[in-house]
Amino acid sequence: MVRPTYAHIDLDAIRANFQAVLAHVGGPSGGVDVIAVVKANGYGHGAVPVARALEAAGVRMLACADIEEGVELRRGGVRAPILVFGALSVSDLDGVFRHDLTPTISSPFAARALHDAAARRGLRVRCHLKIDTGMNRLGFRYDNLASTVPVALAGAGLEIDAVYTHFATAEDPAHPLFDQQRERFDQALTTLSELGVRPRVRHAGNSGALLRDRATWFDAVRPGLLLYGVAPLAWAGRLSLKPAMTLHSRVVAVKGMRVGETAGYGAREAVTRATTVAIVPAGYADGLDVRLAGRGSVLVGGRRVSVVGSVCMDSITVDVTGLDVTPGDEVVLLGSQSGAVIGVAEVAATIGTVPHEILCRTGARIVRTYAAEPSPVSSRATP
Ligand SMILES: *Cc1c(COP(=O)(O)O)cnc(C)c1O
Repeated sequence: MVRPTYAHIDLDAIRANFQAVLAHVGGPSGGVDVIAVVKANGYGHGAVPVARALEAAGVRMLACADIEEGVELRRGGVRAPILVFGALSVSDLDGVFRHDLTPTISSPFAARALHDAAARRGLRVRCHLKIDTGMNRLGFRYDNLASTVPVALAGAGLEIDAVYTHFATAEDPAHPLFDQQRERFDQALTTLSELGVRPRVRHAGNSGALLRDRATWFDAVRPGLLLYGVAPLAWAGRLSLKPAMTLHSRVVAVKGMRVGETAGYGAREAVTRATTVAIVPAGYADGLDVRLAGRGSVLVGGRRVSVVGSVCMDSITVDVTGLDVTPGDEVVLLGSQSGAVIGVAEVAATIGTVPHEILCRTGARIVRTYAAEPSPVSSRATP
């Protein structure tokens, strides 16, 4: 049994988007590889099916947010190298060794913890060193590496295979921090080299940065969003992509509203004409943002129709006045239907958030279906 509201994931689209990014930056033969980001359950698309599709397409490294996500990928049969972005100090380091994950050293404390864990096992662990060039999140500060790095990396347990940074304002064309961060990263690489840290690989660019400026490419780029077929609004059009997720539902009821009546909680926004509405069994528990109340649109019969009144936990009400709509008709909440499109970037802009959030909030109870190889699966996302 499948609930009427479900997400269809087009793995062929994800593979095509991966190939499009590879072609854009040149690929391994051109000296720039792609580290594919599949954190947060593959941006809501299902981490394991997405990772396996990317593996089949030849991906050479995947990245996730924490050790637990890395372990889930390994348990799902993923064999490609997996970079873990997050801080290690609060995670179970055992997973790094047991599941052959590539950790990030993002603080002196994490470096010591990892070093000690490796030493206890008599192992050397390959890791990536993260430099904070202005995000003030994880990473060694760019401006005092000479005092922090030698202490943190003392001993034989850690091998720095790569060095990376992350941009805070890649999607904002006017923000000066972007170029400052790039310059600081260049400086950091020079300082590290003087300290004897000469990584095989340097990487910096997420989706926004890699589209914005080829100077961020270095030896590899780290797209997430682009793989799922969505570009940051500022740089849309620089790459041809195919959205991978379609969020479907079905009309469960059709009824009339009289002038002056309201729909949903709060009883806001009275209708000003006799209105025919359809009830769609998808609400904020499925990931629809409550700020779409009175503002969002969905597709029915290839037409855009608007949300009337509030977004409830399990349903929305949409205006289908004048359309031939009956219970059972297909509704598309995100994606395309008969040529009409509700885009992820559009929904994000409507409610004032980033497209990433729209994808990630696809609810845990939403069943994902996958048509393409490898191994079609239908899985309930693990929350
Ligand atoms: C999430 C993340 C990315 C991918 O960002 P997109 O904007 O989705 O391309 C890259 N690098 C790091 C460190 C991240 O946390």
